Amino acid sequence: MESIVEFFKNLPPKQCAHCGKAIEEQHECYGNHCDQCSEK
Ligand SMILES: [Zn+2]
Repeated sequence: MESIVEFFKNLPPKQCAHCGKAIEEQHECYGNHCDQCSEK
């Protein structure tokens, strides 16, 4: 039986919908875009 931590580890990383770059979730307002693509 896997722990809840292992469950979240198996989740795919959040990716930018524009360039596909993995997003480090720092601000919820970034949405589906990385910091570069969310500039404009
Ligand atoms: Zn991007």
